[in-house]
Amino acid sequence: MTSLKIGFDQGEVDYLVKPSHLSIRASVIHQIRTYCCERFPLEGYGILAGQAMEISHFFPIPCQTNGACTFAFDPRVYLETLKRMRNDQLDWIGIVHSHPLTNAFPSARDLKNWHFSDKSCWIFSWKDSDYQLSAYYIHQNKVIPIMYEIIGTTY
Ligand SMILES: [Zn+2]
Repeated sequence: MTSLKIGFDQGEVDYLVKPSHLSIRASVIHQIRTYCCERFPLEGYGILAGQAMEISHFFPIPCQTNGACTFAFDPRVYLETLKRMRNDQLDWIGIVHSHPLTNAFPSARDLKNWHFSDKSCWIFSWKDSDYQLSAYYIHQNKVIPIMYEIIGTTY
């Protein structure tokens, strides 16, 4: 616990100890895709949670505005989701949102509106007919790609 505390006290150290490799269940990707397709042409948002850096849960979160890349979560659903994660002992690992018409890279608005520096930022895009899911850390306007592994199958 002591070393963790040092990390939180010093921003740079905290950043350096972040895992650069995450895993996500194939069933979660399927849920993200289904939800984001339903939201089209609007963006879809959700929280990604799990344990030991393995994402096993997707919780859709409606937004208060229809603007692109706002992360203006509905406060009621947002708080209910945090409570549910706590009850189920799930770690909040990331946030996913969709880019229906642009590529899977953080936009200028994403950088401006991202206030979750300890979470991974996942972007689901199907700009080029096929879908793409990419993950990043965003730290002081810098974008750091994250490798991830897909676990299991939906079939
Ligand atoms: Zn975005």
